[in-house]
Amino acid sequence: MDRTEWEFSAGGVVYRKNDEGKLEILLIRVKTRWSFPKGNIEKGEPKDKAALREVKEETGVDAEIISYLGEVDYWYNSGLIRIHKFVYYYLMKYLGGDIVPQKEEIDEAKFHLIEEVDNLLSYPTDKKIFDRAKKELEKLGEI
Ligand code: ATP
Repeated sequence: MDRTEWEFSAGGVVYRKNDEGKLEILLIRVKTRWSFPKGNIEKGEPKDKAALREVKEETGVDAEIISYLGEVDYWYNSGLIRIHKFVYYYLMKYLGGDIVPQKEEIDEAKFHLIEEVDNLLSYPTDKKIFDRAKKELEKLGEI
């Protein structure tokens, strides 16, 4: 019999200015796909704390939350189980820390120039969150 389960993750769109003053966004790569760092919310853990923790664990980067960007949801199969997944995203400003990708889960973590990000993202939900992030960055006068 088919079963459905729910999963809840939180993640971040982390930005920084590079040495030339150009805006960059932190992405992670799993196999061939680039997306934003995220991970499971632990039981009883606040979403914002989970998002900051996962950014740190997956990429080694310390960041601070600037604003909430919204949630997305998608479905995927895990064996016979259908998973309905919800992910809550925050806009975050880079504070410091060298990039150290979490070996078990991701293949690469990298700051990309903001102009390159649209072409790198492949999931529609990521594109939607990135559009919101860009609007926020415009409001903040960062772009
Ligand atoms: P987390 O990063 O939240 O700890 P995970 O690495 O276990 O979770 P996902 O990244 O959600 O899991 O990936 C699970 C499945 O869903 C994979 O098959 C992946 O290709 C797919 N997937 C990942 N992100 C998306 C998305 N934004 N839209 C649709 N499918 C996605």
